[in-house]
Amino acid sequence: MDDPPIDLHFVLFPLMAQGHLIPMVDLARILAQRGAMVTIITSPVNANRFKSVIGRAIEAKLNIRILELQLPLAEVGLPDGYENFDLLPSPADVLKMYSVMLLLEEPAEKMLRALSTPPSCIISDGHFPWTSDLAMRFNIPRLVFYGPGCFAFLCIHIMTNTNILDQIDSDSKYFVIPGLPDEIEVTKPQASTWGKGDSEETTDMFERMQIAEKASSGIVVNSFEELEPKYVEEFAKAKDKRVWCIGPVSLCNKSFQDIAERGNKVVVNKNDCLKWLDSREPASVVYVCLGSLWYASTEQAIELGLGLELSNTPFIWFVRETSDELERWLLEEGYEERIKDKGLMVRGWAPQILILSHQAIGGFVTHCGWNSTLEAICAGVTMVTWPHFAEQFLNERFIIDVLKIGVRIGAEVPVMYVLQDKSEVTIKRQNVKKAVKILMNNDEEGEARRNRAKALSIKAKRSMEEGGSSFLNMTLMIKGVTEEVAKNTNSIQDVYPI
Ligand code: UDP
Repeated sequence: MDDPPIDLHFVLFPLMAQGHLIPMVDLARILAQRGAMVTIITSPVNANRFKSVIGRAIEAKLNIRILELQLPLAEVGLPDGYENFDLLPSPADVLKMYSVMLLLEEPAEKMLRALSTPPSCIISDGHFPWTSDLAMRFNIPRLVFYGPGCFAFLCIHIMTNTNILDQIDSDSKYFVIPGLPDEIEVTKPQASTWGKGDSEETTDMFERMQIAEKASSGIVVNSFEELEPKYVEEFAKAKDKRVWCIGPVSLCNKSFQDIAERGNKVVVNKNDCLKWLDSREPASVVYVCLGSLWYASTEQAIELGLGLELSNTPFIWFVRETSDELERWLLEEGYEERIKDKGLMVRGWAPQILILSHQAIGGFVTHCGWNSTLEAICAGVTMVTWPHFAEQFLNERFIIDVLKIGVRIGAEVPVMYVLQDKSEVTIKRQNVKKAVKILMNNDEEGEARRNRAKALSIKAKRSMEEGGSSFLNMTLMIKGVTEEVAKNTNSIQDVYPI
């Protein structure tokens, strides 16, 4: 552990979505391991999901805690308890949640003013632009955290700061994203799902996010330099900001409990999954899990299930939620019985990094969320890419074109994630079968893909070890904050008059 030269108190504001909360909680623990005090501010439902991991961190003598901020849900017409994007059933609720997020400035300020140890730095999800004003009023630095890596954010920056998308008149034609180190082609809808609002609320939000980002002291990225060196450099240049790649943060989880209970309660018996995986040949099983937000329609889930069966490859498939119709198909129509020697279908939250790091896993069917992508890279596992929304299509291009460690399933058109909008059937069983078979093939191409993934996994682990690039970037980030805080120390007296 390194002691920061002055006592730093980081206050973290994570977005209320698993893909943002999980890495922020990891980041909090890494900062605390470096000797800083860390306060995470989130709502009661979200705080509850992380109670046990934070409890273990406190037992390990880390100076870390979660403070609960009530969300003014009633003010925007959201029912009690709708505190995470994964709990919102309709697109209208998503917009209401954006409105809630903009109402938090005043209660958050009250909370910060009541702290017995004043904050010395805010690390805020980009989606809370008002934390910029808050940081200014406290005269402390604000760092931005988004979630995705530099590649996707450079693409988004280009898309939002040029008129390239206005020049594209077709939704199906692929075009080359200008100004990137590699030739990357996407369609307009694939490129437009992040950074440009499709409603007044989101347009306003993204504009405010850009202004706040310009005022920030730097950007913290869950990535590592060796993964995307050209993109880290170009991204920092494009933003004209300090960019610290301090990940993959998931690698801070060392104990079995921390690895197995990440983000949510694992409802299934972890040991049953492990026992099943233990009985399989090394690198023979495909792990299927499509993130924390997206819901497949019953028909889409059935196509996926049939595709896995047709691939004739052992698989472990996690489904967060099943409909009555899907249950009927799984049980009464005999799917689960039929596949029982080959596959395991599990209902509930997956212990993802535990599964990915099991020696039986040889491939991952993923929705290309950035955390899942990085977790696969850490485990040295190649991917079948099935993006749905947000920046996932860009992450897919990164996996396929830049890293060359994946096989596309063939998703073309973005689909929304919320419950009432359950996806249409866009991916047929033949797509699944073909992609899985190609991924798991032991031919030269498959071997080369696997070798590249393994090499990246070694680099990922090294980057987080003492002396590694992410370890050093964390040191530099802490140093940068310390210097800025030292400069501002006098003004802290103004905020907390003695
Ligand atoms: N995750 C998990 N179990 C699940 C589903 C997701 O542990 O059943 C974790 C996964 O390991 C990752 C996060 O949830 O850390 C999902 O983030 P990602 O960026 O991959 O996608 P999102 O869910 O935000 O679309």
